[in-house]
Amino acid sequence: MKNLPYGHQCIDEKDISEVIKVLQSDWITQGSKVKEFENSITNYTGAKYAVAVSSGTAALHIAAIAAGIKKHDEVITSPITFVASANCILYCGGKPVFVDIENTIPNIDPNQIIEKIIKKTKAIIPIDYSGHPSDLKEIYEIAKSKDLTIIEDASHALGAKYRGINIGSCRYSDMAIFSFHPVKHITTGEGGMVVTNNNDLYEKLIMLRNHGITKDKKRLNRNEGPWYYEQQLLGYNYRITDFQCALGLSQIKKLDRFIKKRRKIVDIYNKELENVELIQLPFEKEYATSSWHLYYIQIKKSKDRRYIFEKLRKYNIGCQVHYIPVYFQPYYQKLGYNRCICSNAEKFYKKAISIPIYPSMKSEEINYVIETIQKVSNSLHKN
Ligand SMILES: *Cc1c(COP(=O)(O)O)cnc(C)c1O
Repeated sequence: MKNLPYGHQCIDEKDISEVIKVLQSDWITQGSKVKEFENSITNYTGAKYAVAVSSGTAALHIAAIAAGIKKHDEVITSPITFVASANCILYCGGKPVFVDIENTIPNIDPNQIIEKIIKKTKAIIPIDYSGHPSDLKEIYEIAKSKDLTIIEDASHALGAKYRGINIGSCRYSDMAIFSFHPVKHITTGEGGMVVTNNNDLYEKLIMLRNHGITKDKKRLNRNEGPWYYEQQLLGYNYRITDFQCALGLSQIKKLDRFIKKRRKIVDIYNKELENVELIQLPFEKEYATSSWHLYYIQIKKSKDRRYIFEKLRKYNIGCQVHYIPVYFQPYYQKLGYNRCICSNAEKFYKKAISIPIYPSMKSEEINYVIETIQKVSNSLHKN
């Protein structure tokens, strides 16, 4: 079997021809496709506003600035995430405060958030790990009682639902961000988006994407002529190109089909792997409809994880571990984080393996993954 990655983009001829059309036009950046792509995301999610940027990380960064995170502010997040969710706090001079995950699913535990809120706490960044929404209503009620901003890292969760409400509608968050990296649900190569229902935040985000510059007449302090613009904030060049957005627009048309296929793979995995002794399977809580960015298994005895992982890799299954707790990273250790802060997260890290799931997986490939896991776990049993 050829190497099967844990995730892979799904690009067809139509996607390619849409990109080529833009490349042959006059505007390959700053044209009409960015706005069209933003509109397609607001239509899909139900949020009022969307700002497309050059990566999910850029989206987190400008969201953190727009939330007003500054030096010495504390921001609560989960350690079971990609480093970008916490790095955006450091970019602003703030301090990431890691709150443990629940003991049933690898999302931040709302009950443990309350204990960590102090005067300096400014915001909460929950992650919808693997496409399974965090308990957003619980988090929202805590945040609103303490006047905190919620930036939902929904990088994994485009197309997911929380209590029947679309992720990205911002019903229970001030801003949500998406990533369009090739392993995510839809791709623009590199790319990201911030969505919000708040007009003030939206106007800031638009400026922050483009150096902090505005040409908006109602924002200008004066008007010296048709050329006139003002830099009012310290922003960045986080713009995304029109040909990337053309790809995104073409991809989002297939999103529901992609997710349906992911759910089908999940059903097969759940059914066929249920009886494998050594592993525990992921599930959805009653409030969640996951979009299944990742299918993660947990090896019940963490001492077996490495053996199983190495065997799967040997059989060309490109499994991965999502994630090493962020504060284990040497950079965070140097900042002084203790290695034992979040016991559930540390336990989860020792057990987790993500196995291949992506829309273009063929039945033979799905079966190969299942058979290999069964074989490897049997061989471990005998040892
Ligand atoms: C992918 C990802 C990001 C960052 O997205 P990029 O587009 O790669 O910058 C942030 N948070 C999480 C949880 C992610 O999975």
